[in-house]
Amino acid sequence: MSVFRTQAPIVAKAESVREQFTGERHLLANYARAPIEIVRGEGCELIDAQGNRYLDMVAGIAVCALGHARPEITAAIAEQAATLVQASNLFYHEPSGTLANKLAARSGLEHVFFSNSGTEANEAAIKLARKLAYRKGETQRFRILSCEGSFHGRTFGALAATANPHYKEGFEPLPGGFAYTPFNDIAALEQAIDETVAAFIVEPVQGESGVKPADPEFLAAARRLCDRHGALLIFDEIQCGMGRVGTLFAFQTFGVRPDVVTLAKSLANGLPIGAALREGLQGLHERYPAMFAPPRGLGLMLGLPVREPYEAKAIVDRARVAHHLLLNAAGDNTLRFVPPLVISNAEIAEVLARLARTVAEVAAEGPERKP
Ligand code: PLP
Repeated sequence: MSVFRTQAPIVAKAESVREQFTGERHLLANYARAPIEIVRGEGCELIDAQGNRYLDMVAGIAVCALGHARPEITAAIAEQAATLVQASNLFYHEPSGTLANKLAARSGLEHVFFSNSGTEANEAAIKLARKLAYRKGETQRFRILSCEGSFHGRTFGALAATANPHYKEGFEPLPGGFAYTPFNDIAALEQAIDETVAAFIVEPVQGESGVKPADPEFLAAARRLCDRHGALLIFDEIQCGMGRVGTLFAFQTFGVRPDVVTLAKSLANGLPIGAALREGLQGLHERYPAMFAPPRGLGLMLGLPVREPYEAKAIVDRARVAHHLLLNAAGDNTLRFVPPLVISNAEIAEVLARLARTVAEVAAEGPERKP
């Protein structure tokens, strides 16, 4: 946590919007928040201060895989809070050992390092790659290669690995030794990996850039090239892992085993029922070809690209205001769907019905009108 004297030089936002909501006046306005105040969650729904219920296709941005306020999770948190919250990493603690054993058994990887967030998981992976090269006496091997369009987090190392310049503006200089290669371009990757590369980090499905899956051949080539040149292959599964694309680890869907996998967000189990949602999005694309490009993604990590002059943000706002459906706009004008993995078929049908109404209204009014 940080407390700032003023946010004026950082962001400018209308006072009237900020003051409507509890605590908003003193929250740093670095995130663009929708003007609703969420007070409660139940399963796949969020409830605002006025009692309005929203179907939640955002799930804390792919975090709440098992839905909101699930009784078993609430009970487990309460039980642990009543037993022990923190004992430091100077001692062993049974639950962390049990979870590490389970992750190792299910992934086939050997060692687990726990952190508090996704960006820290990536920092640890980057540091691991550099330390390994250092221990081997390979002083020339320190470069970290990542993909164009990637997002790996907001701390300095993870931010340096993030290729998208949008997240870096105003924070330079960033740590050195980072380079970027085009996503899904095997020939470029072949050129980029050599004996100076400590690790190649890649999202099997890019999330923030607008839900873009890697080609399985690209990941297989990455495995081969990393092996050939002695670099580590790191899969950032922070958004696409833990069941979201249909297997517990995304690398199992792609059939390529990394050396390191980073996890955070929905580090819990779940049951993805993605097909109906995917078919529904395909239907929207076919019905409104001027508004939508073909949907992308896997399992319950889906993106519906919006064609200009239509704006994903305007569709998100209309869905929320008029139909109590929470969506999110990501990357290049794309609607992102990362709902709780426990979403039922009935809830998916309801999501599609509300989405269809939203889209019909936008189509009737044309791209210029906003809700
Ligand atoms: N990596 C990916 C692929 C992500 O999607 C995110 C968050 O959106 C992160 C890393 C950073 O995770 P956190 O927000 O938990 O630091």
